[in-house]
Amino acid sequence: MTPTRNDAPPVDPLATSIRDAGLKVTAPRVAVLTALADMPHVDADTVFRAVRETLPGTSLQAVYGVLGALTGVGLVRRFDPAGSPALFERRVGDNHHHLVCSHCGTIRDVDCVIGAAPCLTPVDTAGFRIHTAEVTFWGLCAECAADPRNSSDPIDSTTHTHSEETP
Ligand SMILES: [Zn+2]
Ligand SMILES: [Zn+2]
Repeated sequence: MTPTRNDAPPVDPLATSIRDAGLKVTAPRVAVLTALADMPHVDADTVFRAVRETLPGTSLQAVYGVLGALTGVGLVRRFDPAGSPALFERRVGDNHHHLVCSHCGTIRDVDCVIGAAPCLTPVDTAGFRIHTAEVTFWGLCAECAADPRNSSDPIDSTTHTHSEETP
């Protein structure tokens, strides 16, 4: 005898995390988290294409809405490298940073620089209660750096973004 549970989704850690975050578990939300589990640092279009394979009726607008909701409750992190659309990932809550190749766009996670959130104590907080500091390291990835054609690329543009609600 096989138990049949046609309308209840199987217990899924993703669904549980959505519920624990205070959101209703919906198929698009689960599909978006599933897509991001396989592909870190992707834009909404890429998520949309992945979600459409399992949920063909999903619209791009719906995916934007889901990404916004999941980002809002901290299940997804949004990352905005200069010159690229917003990227999304599921690695949240550890204040990790990103290495971005200025030549090919490869993105790597890098753990917190000094073992604790860096730059959370700026010289002058201007009255802000700071909760996040984002650091993006720009340079050439190992492969691009090994290519002699790239030897003239500037290597040292490091942007330092402090994310905070702007008044
Ligand atoms: Zn590269
Ligand atoms: Zn990341």
